[in-house]
Amino acid sequence: MKIRVEDIPKEGMHLNFRWEQESIEPFLTPNDPYQMQIQEPLEVAVFIKKVGDYIHVTGELHGELVVPCHRCLEAFIFPMNAFIETFLYPPRYLGSSKEEVELDEEDMEQEFFDGEEIDLDVIVAEEIFLNFPPVLLCSPDCKGLCPKCGSNLNTSPCNCKREGDSPFAVLARWKTK
Ligand SMILES: [Zn+2]
Ligand SMILES: [Zn+2]
Repeated sequence: MKIRVEDIPKEGMHLNFRWEQESIEPFLTPNDPYQMQIQEPLEVAVFIKKVGDYIHVTGELHGELVVPCHRCLEAFIFPMNAFIETFLYPPRYLGSSKEEVELDEEDMEQEFFDGEEIDLDVIVAEEIFLNFPPVLLCSPDCKGLCPKCGSNLNTSPCNCKREGDSPFAVLARWKTK
């Protein structure tokens, strides 16, 4: 969703919109094994305000995504609840240092826009990606796949002998090298 800066009233504006599967598609790499899907449309609520010549966007988003577990590859539902806090700077700030922009909080997002139009979809997409943990697990004790037969050890335990049954076994092997 794009907003023209001239349409933002002086007192700021509240905006509510939904993010469905087709909203996220442009941000996914084609054929990405990640295969992220929106299960429950994301409800996005933002407040947009002009501060000087830059734009401050705050808000939150809530919804459910379906993502594959990094260990067992099974798709699972990942609840997405995130806060949005972004500053959008017009092009004249490009190349200027943080000090010149006078940011009071370091962890705020900084973006640039063309000075005329801001794209809220980009902000939502970035917030989603930022809020994923580095490793997505269907459960903290997911057993993953058997390295020999590939069966999902959470649902179909196999009889393969595995050296890596305990983390110490891996360590022992490494030590003897
Ligand atoms: Zn898993
Ligand atoms: Zn097996």
